[in-house]
Amino acid sequence: MKIKVILRLILTTISMSLLSNLNPAPIWSYFEEICGIPRLSKNEEKIRRYLLGFASSHGLESREDRAGNILIIRPASPGFENKNTLVLQGHMDMVGEKNSDYSHDWSSDPVIPYIENGWVKAKGTTLGADDGIGLASMMAVLTDKTLEGGKIECLFTVDEETGMTGAINLKPGFFEGRTLINLDSEDEGILFIGCAGGMDTISCLNYSHESVPGNMTAFIISVTGLHGGHSGDEIHKGYANSIKIMNRILWNLSDQFNIRICRFDGGNLRNAIPREAFADLIVEKSLKEQVRNWVSGFREVLQDEYGELEKDMKISIEESALPTEIMDKEGQSKFLNSLACCPHGVISWSKDMENLVETSTNLASVRFTAGHNIKIITTQRSSVESAKYDAGAMVKSCFSLAGAEVKHSHGYPGWKPNMKSEILGLTIRSYQELFGKEPEVRAIHAGLECGLIYEKFRGIDMISFGPTIRGAHTPEEKIEIETVIMFWELLTSVIREIPSSQPADL
Ligand SMILES: [Zn+2]
Repeated sequence: MKIKVILRLILTTISMSLLSNLNPAPIWSYFEEICGIPRLSKNEEKIRRYLLGFASSHGLESREDRAGNILIIRPASPGFENKNTLVLQGHMDMVGEKNSDYSHDWSSDPVIPYIENGWVKAKGTTLGADDGIGLASMMAVLTDKTLEGGKIECLFTVDEETGMTGAINLKPGFFEGRTLINLDSEDEGILFIGCAGGMDTISCLNYSHESVPGNMTAFIISVTGLHGGHSGDEIHKGYANSIKIMNRILWNLSDQFNIRICRFDGGNLRNAIPREAFADLIVEKSLKEQVRNWVSGFREVLQDEYGELEKDMKISIEESALPTEIMDKEGQSKFLNSLACCPHGVISWSKDMENLVETSTNLASVRFTAGHNIKIITTQRSSVESAKYDAGAMVKSCFSLAGAEVKHSHGYPGWKPNMKSEILGLTIRSYQELFGKEPEVRAIHAGLECGLIYEKFRGIDMISFGPTIRGAHTPEEKIEIETVIMFWELLTSVIREIPSSQPADL
């Protein structure tokens, strides 16, 4: 135990001296300090105290709200009082993942950063550059005496990673600025100007059951090895949905061989495209070889349909023990038909931005639960609120027709891209002048706190940019050192260029 503590101290000291040699020095020295402070989502007390202590030790005005968000204010430099107030925003919590062979107590142990081939990584754990680098850059702005600009409000939100409750509970009036830079994106050279809102549509279908007739054979069918992926970032890539695949198999077997099912489970997380599905069924003994042959034939059809995209797809059928009961025939028919109708994937593309999915829906999971119920979870995303609700209504209609009870979750709003945004124009100009090339402008089909901020502070002009981070939310998380320099140059240049609300000498 003692050796472990000493080793950690040595590692911390070595890594601290390493990071403090990096540029821009203030960002990295604050980042090092933050690495030493445990700050998992919903356990942000230590980082909150640290930030408030930082504000008071630098004589900066600060305030907090009931949700735990903190605002620290940098007054305008003398002569810059007429500039519009700028809000910088990042989240103070982080995801705590570690390698299984690495011991780490997230309530007390520091994250140990180190440098490898131009990147900063952490020993055995997530690094927390998401969004520690956002916090460190705000602290660097707040204390940079050489940086001249208008008033800056730095907003440190809580709990972005497990529910965005900090952003959800922000109250109008907590900050005054109407231009905001979110510092929580992960690709240098890309400016983000929109994100998707999301909601869940959850159906519960109750069914009657029957006993198993004589002379039957039972099978278990498995669909495994699919790619899956994030239902926001990867929904447009056309990967197979294991629930849809399984339903195609069962729907056809039901139609041709009158199979009867007693279980269908597939999918796992609401925001993941399902990768696996399993079903138990019975069929008359005399048809069992035909069923087997049909499944092998259909496997080839699917392999041909998906090709390289799902090269590891596996579909197997094996005999199993007879179940004690099966779904009633009418219930089974409604269930399989409703899954066949239920949309999955991209519903529409943005009319304003190329290659941006505007609206999508993910058929995320199907579970047979106690009391003869089937729970079907789907999620809808869109950068346009009305389109999100319409996608939810489509899904609701499918399952309502089957007699299910269907509910929508409250969800979170999207942030619709505005190509005429003033902060976007200014950031593009700064980027071109600094680096002699065009930045890419994009929106993402996943959630950001910006959507919630946009809903509460109507008319706010926002943009999101940051240095390059890879492997966020995993122990492989790393941040590219060179891009932190570019990020800092861009951020400080934009701060200098923020326009005045009225000419200074009037
Ligand atoms: Zn983040």
